[in-house]
Amino acid sequence: MYNVKSMKAEEFISDEEILETLQYAEDNKNNIKLIDEIIEKAKLRKGLNHREASVLLACDIPKKVMEIYNLAEQIKKDFYGNRIVLFAPLYLSNYCVNGCVYCPYHLKNKHIARKKLTKEEVAREVTALMDMGHKRLAIEAGEDPVMNPIEYILECIDTIYGVKHKNGAIRRVNVNIAATTVENYRRLHEAGIGTYILFQETYNKASYEKLHPTGPKSDYAYHTEAMDRAMEGGIDDVGLGVLFGLELYKYEFAGLLMHAEHLEAVHGVGPHTISLPRIKRADDIDPDTFDNGISDEIFCKIAACIRIAVPYTGMIISTRESKEVRDEVIRLGVSQISGGSKTSVGGYCEPSPADELTEQFDVSDTRTLDEVISWLMSKGYIPSFCTACYREGRTGDRFMSLLKSGQIQNCCHPNALMTLKEYLEDYASNDTKSLGEMLIMKELDNIPDKKVRDIVIDRLAKIENGDRDFRF
Ligand code: SAM
Repeated sequence: MYNVKSMKAEEFISDEEILETLQYAEDNKNNIKLIDEIIEKAKLRKGLNHREASVLLACDIPKKVMEIYNLAEQIKKDFYGNRIVLFAPLYLSNYCVNGCVYCPYHLKNKHIARKKLTKEEVAREVTALMDMGHKRLAIEAGEDPVMNPIEYILECIDTIYGVKHKNGAIRRVNVNIAATTVENYRRLHEAGIGTYILFQETYNKASYEKLHPTGPKSDYAYHTEAMDRAMEGGIDDVGLGVLFGLELYKYEFAGLLMHAEHLEAVHGVGPHTISLPRIKRADDIDPDTFDNGISDEIFCKIAACIRIAVPYTGMIISTRESKEVRDEVIRLGVSQISGGSKTSVGGYCEPSPADELTEQFDVSDTRTLDEVISWLMSKGYIPSFCTACYREGRTGDRFMSLLKSGQIQNCCHPNALMTLKEYLEDYASNDTKSLGEMLIMKELDNIPDKKVRDIVIDRLAKIENGDRDFRF
C-alpha cells in the first residue's frame, strides 16, 4: 500500500512502491525519450518525483549522465550561488543503550571510553569552537534515557547559547539526537534549535531491524515517523539522511525522496536539509563487513540526482569524506559542509590519548577550519557563517517560499559576505585574510541592487571597526 499522506511509516515508505520504482527505473534506464523528458522537466527547477529521479540515477548512458551532472551544477549555482555554509559537530555524550551494529557507541562495545560533557566542559568546547570561528553547531549524542535525558540536552543547548567569548557567539544549534516524543520536540523548539536532524540509516524495514537489533532505536515505525512528531512539536526545519553503505543505494534513494514527498504533502514543507553520510571505519566497526559500500563515482551521482530532484533542500557533507570527494559533491549540489571537526566527546579541547577511543568514526578531511576556508575561496566559493534565516524567522515554509521566489539571492549573498568578513577579522590567518579580502571586493560587484550594495559596504566598514551584528 502506498499513501504519501498517511502518517504510518510503512504506508508512506511503502516497500512495494520502492521495489516497483526500482523495477521501473531498471526497465527505463536506456529509454532515451523518457530520460530526455525527465531532464526537461528537471530544467523547470520544480523538482522530480521519486520515480523520475530513480530513472536518472539508474541511467548509465555517459552522454545523459553528463547532462544530469551539468544540470545539477547549474541548479546548484542558480539556487545557492557560490556560497557554502560552514558548521561543526559537537559531541556531547557517547553513552548509548542501542545496539546499532555499524556504530561504535553500541551498548556491547566495552572498550570505547564512555564520556559525557559537564556544563563546564560544554562551555570549554564551545569556546574552542568559537576560537576557530564557528557560529553554527550540530550537537550529537547517543541515546541513553538515564545518562542523556532530554533535560541534559536542553541544558547543553542553553549553555551553548549562553557562552559569549570575545566576538564569538553560537547563533544556531542544530540537533542530531535520537527519535523522541512530540512533547520533547516541543521543548527543543522552545529552546531555539535550528534544524532537527535524524538519519534514517536505512529505509528498508527488514534491514533496519537487523541493523538495530536492540534498544529503543530498533522500532522502525517510531524512528521513521520521528519527523512528523518533530513538525507536530513546532520544529519547522528537519534534516533527513541515510547512512550509505548499509543497504542498496537505489532503494535508499527512492525511500529518501518518498520521505521528502511525504513531509511536503502532510506538513506543506519538505526537508530543510539532506545529509549524505557514508559508513566509515570506527572502533569495533569494519565498514568492509557491510556489503553495500558505494564507490565515489556513485556517491557523486547520488548527490547530483538529489540536487535535481529536490532543488529547495540544502545538502550537507561532513568530514567523513575526503577533500577530493567534498570538492566534487560541492560542485554537484552540496550547500553546507563541516570543517575542523572532531568526532570525539571533548575532542576540541583535549584530543583523546591514543589508547583512549571515543571517536564516533574516522575523519577523512582532517584540515583545520582555516585551511578549509582558504581552500573554498581558492575554488571561488564564498564560505558563509550566516544563520540569519533562523534569526529572522525564515524557516520552514517561509524559507521555502523565499527560495522558490528566487529572492534568497538578494539576502543570502550579502549575508555571506558580511559573516565572512567577521571571520576574516576575528579568526583567519594572514594568508586566508588576504585571499578573503580580494574575494569580498570582487563579490561586491555581484550584488545587483546598488542600495543593497551600499548597505553592505557600510556594514563591512563597521565590522572592520569591531562592530558585530548578532542577527546574522
Ligand atoms: N544517536 C542519534 C541517533 O541514533 O540517531 C544520533 C547521533 S549519531 C552520533 C549520528 C549518526 O552517525 C548516526 O545517525 C549514524 O548515521 C552515523 N554513524 C554511526 N556510525 C557510523 C560509522 N561507523 N560511520 C559513519 N557514520 C556513522
